[in-house]
Amino acid sequence: MKIVRWAGAPAAAVLAVLASLTVLAPLAQADSGAGRPAKVTTVVSLTFDDGDVTHTAAARMLERRGMRGTFYVNTETIGGDAKLDRRALAAIARAGHEIGGHTLTHIRLTQLTRSEQRTQICDDRRTLIAWGYRPTTLAYPFGSVDSDAKAVARQCGYDAARRVGGLKEWGCPGCPAGEEPRPRDRYEIRTPGSIREDTLLRQMRQQVLNAEKTGGGLVPLVFHRVCAGCGVYSVSPETLDDFLGWLAGRKAHGTVVRTMHDAVGARYRPMPRN
Ligand SMILES: [Zn+2]
Repeated sequence: MKIVRWAGAPAAAVLAVLASLTVLAPLAQADSGAGRPAKVTTVVSLTFDDGDVTHTAAARMLERRGMRGTFYVNTETIGGDAKLDRRALAAIARAGHEIGGHTLTHIRLTQLTRSEQRTQICDDRRTLIAWGYRPTTLAYPFGSVDSDAKAVARQCGYDAARRVGGLKEWGCPGCPAGEEPRPRDRYEIRTPGSIREDTLLRQMRQQVLNAEKTGGGLVPLVFHRVCAGCGVYSVSPETLDDFLGWLAGRKAHGTVVRTMHDAVGARYRPMPRN
């Protein structure tokens, strides 16, 4: 059986893929007679922003499919109205999901001075570390980023950061369908636009199919609230679960789900002294 290492994935991830391939091999044999499982070409990251209280149920939904997601939280609003509290956040992390930074108060970084950006990004990460997490990836609130914010993200010890937009979607038909497996700009990882209340299941599938058809790559999907009819930036649990069920079946086409941390092979760095 030939194993193709996917763009320098960490050893643990490679082992996990090996284990899953071993299990899948007899099935693949029965289907094709070739006995050769599909090699991984497309990696989907399921990211959930803002520490919404509905993310406890969303995390469980992923777990039932054997998937793990990335949850980007604002430490100053954790425990607030309609937000996860620290205990709920810890439970999500314990189940194997990634906890990433999203600034202290969910502010538009491009409107801040560099020193204010440092407070928002570094203090948020410092708090996450004090809470026992090892945050390696950041999501810019509103996807709003400039060169200062990118430099600050790096200075605060993050190894990669996600914006919103830049990949193919209805608003950008000419954009690439997948981010590079090892993004050229690790501090501005691209995504399709946020999943919204009016995003159809078919459109979510299409984001993945587009990448599969054009050589694969990384497709980070951006979710916010997971509840029916609860705002523009929401997805219903039913739609999300339908999508996850479909996504699980794409393994045979070389598509897998990984956290942002695993997808980009992020490395943890302690808080720099400053
Ligand atoms: Zn956000």
